[in-house]
Amino acid sequence: MGRERIDLEEGRPPLLIARRVLNEFCAHARETQPEECCGLITGDGEQRFRTVYRCRNEMTLYHRKDPERYPRDGKKAFYMNESDYLKAMEDAESRGETVNAVYHSHVGAGSYFSAMDQEFASHALFPFPDVAHVVISVWDEQVNQLGVFERDDASGQFTGRSLEAERS
Ligand SMILES: [Zn+2]
Repeated sequence: MGRERIDLEEGRPPLLIARRVLNEFCAHARETQPEECCGLITGDGEQRFRTVYRCRNEMTLYHRKDPERYPRDGKKAFYMNESDYLKAMEDAESRGETVNAVYHSHVGAGSYFSAMDQEFASHALFPFPDVAHVVISVWDEQVNQLGVFERDDASGQFTGRSLEAERS
């Protein structure tokens, strides 16, 4: 506990990824707002962020069933549908790809890694302990900021930098 949100580090060079991949998760974020979207990005040694797999955000369902245990709904949090991400992993592995990132959106908030996001990513039951986290900020129905948060090998702490499309 006692974690604080982690912001994008200004002045740090952005991580560049294929425009097609970026467009895909941005479209997902716009479609699901005002709820948060979530999913996986898989890839291989040649292209780390190659394929986007959408997963359903079930947080509103959990919140309705048990609001004490799940105080936030899908507008403020995400809970990836388990069969969606298991299917995605299986499909990716069959094509020689591995899960390299989990993405989710923030609606009406910036691209930062919240205390809750950190808790979730570091939870013993989280299925992807070593992946990057992409956070898509959506304001007024448009994507306005993209960031990627990765664990620093030495310190074990997450750091953030912006994410941009490669110029082709
Ligand atoms: Zn978040």
